[in-house]
Amino acid sequence: MTESSPSGRPAVFLDRDGTLIDDLGYVADPARAVLLPGVVEGLRLLRDRFELFMVTNQVGVARGFLTMAEVERVNEHIVGQLAAAGVVIRHIYVCPHDRSENCACHKPKPLFLHQAAADYGIDLARSYTVGDHDHDVAFGEAVGGTGIFVLTGHGAKHHHELAPGTLVVPDLLAAARLILARG
Ligand SMILES: [Mg+2]
Ligand SMILES: [Zn+2]
Repeated sequence: MTESSPSGRPAVFLDRDGTLIDDLGYVADPARAVLLPGVVEGLRLLRDRFELFMVTNQVGVARGFLTMAEVERVNEHIVGQLAAAGVVIRHIYVCPHDRSENCACHKPKPLFLHQAAADYGIDLARSYTVGDHDHDVAFGEAVGGTGIFVLTGHGAKHHHELAPGTLVVPDLLAAARLILARG
């Protein structure tokens, strides 16, 4: 495994469901993938200083509720909306497995972070992961980065599961402001 690049660029790794769009369960129809309020504004704040990635666990594929093609159509719709707003998502990483399969790529396992570090020269120690589950926070912390928990999506419901000291913000716009404030 290629290690993180201390000379590289920092990145923000964004969860999809509950973070960029609402968590609607198994989403096959791109028309349902509407960006949450503040997402575009937040990512515009980050885009000049951070590479942006989307990382999503899609257990619906393993469970037979979604095809990978359906997941990809929804993903393309999301990044298309962001691109139209001037925000580039550098790469999309999808784990299509169920947690029970014990694959290498299911968040919080850091495989995709290491892949991004190797393929895009990312400095993981200066990078962030953002999402509405505790595994989205643990994901970044596992590689020496910083995890931020948002209260959108399932965030409010899972808030009580967090380790003390976890960074918690209302939404992605607040996460972006916190990231910039931390330097
Ligand atoms: Mg989520
Ligand atoms: Zn996986």
